Amino acid sequence: MAGVRVASAAGPGSDTLASALEAQRERLLPCVHCGFCLPACPTYERLGDENDSPRGRLHLMQAVVDGRLDAASDAFHTHIDRCLGCRACEPVCPSGVEYGTLLELAREAAARARPPALPTRLLLSVMGSRTARSPFFVGGRMLRATGLASLGARILPSEGVLGTGRLGLAMLAASADGTDRIRRARPAGGAHASPLAEGTSPDTTPADPESPNVPSSPSDPPSSAFSAGRRARVGLLEGCVQKGLFERINAATARTLRFNGYDVVPVPMGDCCGALHAHGGDLDGARRLAQRNMDAFERADVDLVVTNAAGCGAAMKEYGTLFDSDADLADRAGAFARRVRDVSELLEEAGPRPGAEVPCTLAYDHPCHLQHAQGLAHAPLAVLGAVPGTEVRVIEGADECCGGAGIYGITHPDLGGRIGRDKVAAVRAAAGDAACTPNPGCMMQIGAGLRLEGARADVVHPVEILDESYRKAGYYE
Ligand code: SF4
Ligand code: SF4
Repeated sequence: MAGVRVASAAGPGSDTLASALEAQRERLLPCVHCGFCLPACPTYERLGDENDSPRGRLHLMQAVVDGRLDAASDAFHTHIDRCLGCRACEPVCPSGVEYGTLLELAREAAARARPPALPTRLLLSVMGSRTARSPFFVGGRMLRATGLASLGARILPSEGVLGTGRLGLAMLAASADGTDRIRRARPAGGAHASPLAEGTSPDTTPADPESPNVPSSPSDPPSSAFSAGRRARVGLLEGCVQKGLFERINAATARTLRFNGYDVVPVPMGDCCGALHAHGGDLDGARRLAQRNMDAFERADVDLVVTNAAGCGAAMKEYGTLFDSDADLADRAGAFARRVRDVSELLEEAGPRPGAEVPCTLAYDHPCHLQHAQGLAHAPLAVLGAVPGTEVRVIEGADECCGGAGIYGITHPDLGGRIGRDKVAAVRAAAGDAACTPNPGCMMQIGAGLRLEGARADVVHPVEILDESYRKAGYYE
């Protein structure tokens, strides 16, 4: 462990982590230090420091548990904080180390030993309160609608505090509806210039041509089989950012699910999923929000809980783990978690029904919290496969994080910026009409990167394209 002294006396945060990890010892012990996870780790790949690898971070956690390292130390704080939480290290680990769970415990200990910066604490407070986040997002939508967000992203300097503000405004501008531009992109079968990168050579992987969901003919009529009965009664998590900035995607999710045979019922008292809090070391805050969601969805009496945000789905599928030391709530949280589905899982299960042509080319990126945390890579491609005329190019390096990782792009502008620029380069190399990814954080991170490079291209969610296809087919307004 070059550069990290692990023999210092343990501090107050060490006890917290030691006791938290002690209870999870079976999750920490399986690491056999083989290093298979190192090449999958974006921070290790960029920095080349073992301490910024999954194996190195697990070693630091073990050192804190053993009392050889202080949880308040710079070393522990810096390297745990630099982790994206992308979980690309999990699927490649032969020992099945549950890195994501261990990271959240380590973050909690680090945050207790040394509280996060004020802006981070403020943001978590706002996201955790329905009363506070409503005016926050009203302000955000006003900045977006008036064009001030776009203007600020163009004229503010790229360095310092104003540089952080510029990135935030670019992310806000990138949350705007991108389907309009796709509608205008080209007539069916027509040639056109690529808004992502005119003249670059596509270096991409085509979407799975064997997908059973590609309609045999664009004019296939919708099957009447579904209209007779319902598949399941589902409640949609409206979320915090999703409700505040991507309400159109929630609406498209409800419409496309209904058209595919699901009863979608409102869950008005649903809340933020708690992912931002868990990733930020505030596990108590995450549990409070999780409890509110369990109450709300149980009251709504739904069979399944559906989300269209990869990060929210990953967090809610792990509510059981979040409460596993709470004898009163563990079983209930586990049962709730087993009912959580990403919208693409439900649509894939339903077919989904094909719609009308939407002629466009999309540069598709896998969200980490869908592919690595939920093991869902095919389902969103199956959703897009139901849209005749839409070509999907999975970008080079689609299994690597975009650098957004919650608020990582803002809290780590240098490293997050490097990772983000590599992602944007891969998206632009796909030379399509728009980027496509099913997670709001990734949409904003990639969209901001495109804007800051001057590309006139948007980022869309797969259900927006399926919804557009249904709308064009006249299945609904
Ligand atoms: S986390 Fe898994 S892949 Fe990485 S060193 Fe440990 S056992 Fe090997
Ligand atoms: S979660 Fe991502 S950044 Fe963190 S150690 Fe694993 S692969 Fe690396």
